[in-house]
Amino acid sequence: MKNSILYIVPTPIGNLEDITLRAIKVLKSVSIIGAEDTRNSGKLLKKFKIKTPMFSYHKFNERSRVEKILDKLKNGEDVAIISDAGTPGISDPASIIIKAAIEINIKVETLPGATAFIPALVSSGLVSERFYFAGFLPEKKSEKNNLLKELKNIKDTIIFYEAPHRLIKFLSGLKKVFGNRKIVIARELSKLYETYYRITIDEVLTNPDMIILKGEFVIIVEGAQEKEYSNAELLEMLQAELGKGKSKKDIIKKVMEKTSVSKNRIYYLALKL
Ligand code: SAM
Repeated sequence: MKNSILYIVPTPIGNLEDITLRAIKVLKSVSIIGAEDTRNSGKLLKKFKIKTPMFSYHKFNERSRVEKILDKLKNGEDVAIISDAGTPGISDPASIIIKAAIEINIKVETLPGATAFIPALVSSGLVSERFYFAGFLPEKKSEKNNLLKELKNIKDTIIFYEAPHRLIKFLSGLKKVFGNRKIVIARELSKLYETYYRITIDEVLTNPDMIILKGEFVIIVEGAQEKEYSNAELLEMLQAELGKGKSKKDIIKKVMEKTSVSKNRIYYLALKL
């Protein structure tokens, strides 16, 4: 019996010409395609004359579909997973079936292809050598704030996905934790109205109308910049904390948190107080 393959197949994020020749070939060759929204993907399959049957595979039935997919794979049939747009597994369902297939030694082949964050990052003009993909923030406020606090000191570029109606709220939440930063808002990638806004968080918040809040958005945020603090600046901060009646240990800790300057240097300066 031939070894079956679970294919993870990217589909276009706007421009249908971004489908690859290999994606079409694989989607035609597999026994069945798991699609996030079979109606939506039906249009894509029709355009490329792909007649392979589909079944729904979305975040609400992901777990319950695993057995069905594994049965097919165990039976020697190849299965492909697609999402509404872009690469499955990137802020889209796929991870559950991928893990399950790997556990029983089924080969998983992910085709290279469309995804929204790569073109957004590359065109942003911000550092693209090292980056952190954060995707959508959690909905729960406490989880969201905890994650943002974790990301605050990351020096690499950070990438977020956000829906248009939540964009301004997202940016004001970001401002509270990150302070002002350079950002790039990439809108409607690969579509007719593709736009890049290369701005700062403050610029958007003071003039939200500058962004057309329609379509799909990737938000690229500049990583934390290391500020060079002079001894005089650090001493001033230490003195300000001292004025609040804190212990020396707490003062050092507070200034370390604020500046990310080494404990040794702050400790040495604190001796002068
Ligand atoms: N799997 C997709 C990928 O590989 O990028 C992401 C799917 S996620 C459910 C949808 C989000 O991706 C949107 O809310 C938006 O943040 C981003 N996105 C998808 N298509 C986009 C496009 N054409 N332009 C800008 N952002 C896009």
